[in-house]
Amino acid sequence: MRLYEYEGKEVFKKYGIVVPEGVIISSTDMVKEAIDKIGLPAVVKAQVLVGGRGKAGGVKIVNSLEEAIEVTDHLFREGVKGVRPRKILIEKAVPIEKELYLSITIDRAKREYIILASTEGGVDIEEIAAKKPEAIVKVGINPLTGLQGYHIRSISYKLKELGLSDDVASRMSRLAKNLYKIMLDLDADLVEINPLALLKTGELIALDSKIIVDDNALFRHPDLFESLSEDPRDFTESEIIARKYGFSYVELDGDVGVIANGAGLTMATMDMIAHFGGKPACFLDIGGGASRERVKEAVKLLLSNPRIKVIMINIYGGITRCDEVAMGIIDAVTETGIRKPLVIRMVGTKEEEGVKILKEHGMEPYMNDEEAAKRAVAITRGE
Ligand code: GDP
Ligand code: MN
Repeated sequence: MRLYEYEGKEVFKKYGIVVPEGVIISSTDMVKEAIDKIGLPAVVKAQVLVGGRGKAGGVKIVNSLEEAIEVTDHLFREGVKGVRPRKILIEKAVPIEKELYLSITIDRAKREYIILASTEGGVDIEEIAAKKPEAIVKVGINPLTGLQGYHIRSISYKLKELGLSDDVASRMSRLAKNLYKIMLDLDADLVEINPLALLKTGELIALDSKIIVDDNALFRHPDLFESLSEDPRDFTESEIIARKYGFSYVELDGDVGVIANGAGLTMATMDMIAHFGGKPACFLDIGGGASRERVKEAVKLLLSNPRIKVIMINIYGGITRCDEVAMGIIDAVTETGIRKPLVIRMVGTKEEEGVKILKEHGMEPYMNDEEAAKRAVAITRGE
């Protein structure tokens, strides 16, 4: 999950990294109040998650209130590279002496963190790497021993070699500590400041922020996860539901919904559907020991997808209990009121109880999954 610039800057502030004074707005009426507060010149920045935002016209320096209103209005209406911002950040413009670069990311090959620092900020790190690779300082950090004083001294020393003064190199290198802390606390894949502006006054200030949080760690950050319901970014609605309830979901283009427990059984079920000439509409693994609630949400997700003509549920109960699954299925059907053919195969732990619950609700589960798969495919053909 990528954070917006303004969200990243909130994080920066909390961790002692200086950012320009700014106001976040969600409509053009709010521009005047923002400008009154921060003064002119100001920078109007569209909050969109597209690369090369500045070059694409998403970042503009304005010198009057009228100009600020005009630029904001235009950005809200036209967006940047086709993406319309929900929010715009208006910041005090600062006089830049030099644009620097600082980030921390993961070197997967070496299995360590890596800090990248450069005296050539303002452009993408890839561009610096292509044009002036010698201007990039790289320092690896073993995650077991963590960031140490000698890492900081090494960054500082190398930055001096690239022409920064003792004072600036030393202050910039110490910012790596703040980034490292953010990286760990947020389970991030990347924390980047580009540009890190060196002002005429000597101050170092983060003009931009880029933070990417590992999607697989989102459950450890409920506040971030919560913000996805307001603004899903590049997640689909179904993916958000899946993450919320803890099942794995991949949407495909067929019409047979597939739910099973365990990735192996789910794939085998998809193969069976394909074997009998059908097309799976998804991969949905409810995982081990799924609760009634999780099953309910999984079934609801497929019931509400109009492309899905039939749902095949294949449960091989181990730590997963058939009675929990059966109750989850019934809950989903009752709650949504959507009638769609369900083909259920259910064996294993608490099978008798599960089967009884389904039968009480007029459903006849299968024991054999090949028969179930054949039946599901036949239903899509109207047989
Ligand atoms: P990006 O294109 O999404 O990376 O947007 P940035 O936030 O990095 O801004 C792009 C460029 O706008 C920066 O590299 C700066 O050159 C310029 N810029 C941003 N804020 C300011 C500011 O306060 N003052 C000045 N003079 N330039 C700024
Ligand atoms: Mn930038």
